[in-house]
Amino acid sequence: MNDGSLDLAILGGTFDPVHSGHLQIARVVSELLSTRVCCVPSNIPPHKSSTIATPDQRLTMLRLAVSEDPKLDVDDLELKRGDRSYTLETLKDFRRRLGPSPRLYFILGMDAYLSLPSWLGWQQLLDYAHLVVCRRETDQASAPLLLAFERSHQVKTTGMLKSSAHGRLFFVDNTALAVSSTEIRQRIKNKCDPSAFLDPAVHAYILQEQLYAAS
Ligand code: ATP
Repeated sequence: MNDGSLDLAILGGTFDPVHSGHLQIARVVSELLSTRVCCVPSNIPPHKSSTIATPDQRLTMLRLAVSEDPKLDVDDLELKRGDRSYTLETLKDFRRRLGPSPRLYFILGMDAYLSLPSWLGWQQLLDYAHLVVCRRETDQASAPLLLAFERSHQVKTTGMLKSSAHGRLFFVDNTALAVSSTEIRQRIKNKCDPSAFLDPAVHAYILQEQLYAAS
């Protein structure tokens, strides 16, 4: 019997740096689905050219950002695994750890969702987790492949989502903040204040490490 206490949501990303948009979607999903959220920084993201901060710096920023929120956590399994970070491998790892009954959710922003058909083994992701998509301001319409995916797997209520451990697709509206790591890196480079979008401890760390000033 699953009482929900072992349920887990995962937020994967490069977190270069972690910002208030990441924390916002993590907290909204945590509240909505009554679950802990684990942030998983990728080692080498398959879809991005490179990161500016080192893996250790990205991990440190994440740990600083979640340190005071008991619902949020960080796991460095993708950094430890090394090589390219494939979400399918990560979900398999978490499913092995959790066993079959707890619900496992993978959170992604709309931009990431729209690129899903280019992810390794994307159709198998639902064999291990639910997908929870947070709409973001850059929304475009889904491509035909995704429309078919939505017809097969989308559910409209959290009750329907929670009625299985994995296998469903759910959209959350009005969660996203209009901010990205790219915008923060640009702001720092252009000497504009990014503090409205950063946890204070993360901002202090960026200044201390002189991150992004020359990126
Ligand atoms: P970059 O600007 O470097 O591409 P990013 O801000 O999109 O980075 P990532 O670490 O790549 O951040 O994102 C991790 C996950 O968080 C992705 O699923 C992404 O869609 C989602 N995400 C990031 N920022 C937001 C936001 N402001 N609102 C909703 N989802 C977001």
